[in-house]
Amino acid sequence: MDKLTPRERSDNMRRIRSKGMKPELDVRRLVHGLGYRYRLHVRSLPGKPDLVFRLRRKVILVHGCFWHQHPNRRCKIVRRPKSNKTYWTRKLKNNAARDLKHLAALRKDGWRVLVIWECQTANLATLAERITTFLGSAKTSKSGASHYQVSSRRRATGRGLSDVRRVR
Ligand SMILES: [Zn+2]
Repeated sequence: MDKLTPRERSDNMRRIRSKGMKPELDVRRLVHGLGYRYRLHVRSLPGKPDLVFRLRRKVILVHGCFWHQHPNRRCKIVRRPKSNKTYWTRKLKNNAARDLKHLAALRKDGWRVLVIWECQTANLATLAERITTFLGSAKTSKSGASHYQVSSRRRATGRGLSDVRRVR
């Protein structure tokens, strides 16, 4: 049974969606601060992946825990809507199915994929380590080198974690 009018529902969804942008922005800022360069939402790739590292042939997907139904019991964000069940069950199932399809297509084309869940962006230090492990070291380039050099020096001195926080 639908207790919301279509107008109210779309307002609701817009609110959830714009809130869903924050994790992606956090990840972008973090990755950029670590010295990696990427392209956003590349249309020619399955599912328009959020961050694309062409030369490394890697992508990072940032998933909102609700929209993509984070399959983790410890996730504090994901929830199953109680009202309007049929609608949501179908919608969220479709989302999950689409995610899997895109993931499979990317991997089949030789892309390596890192999925970052919204709730994992709460700890940027841990996340920074995961990202660096996934991407490998950020290459130094002549233009805009200062960023790269600073971040590799940070890593070398082992002060990386506390410094990463300041990137925010
Ligand atoms: Zn989660």
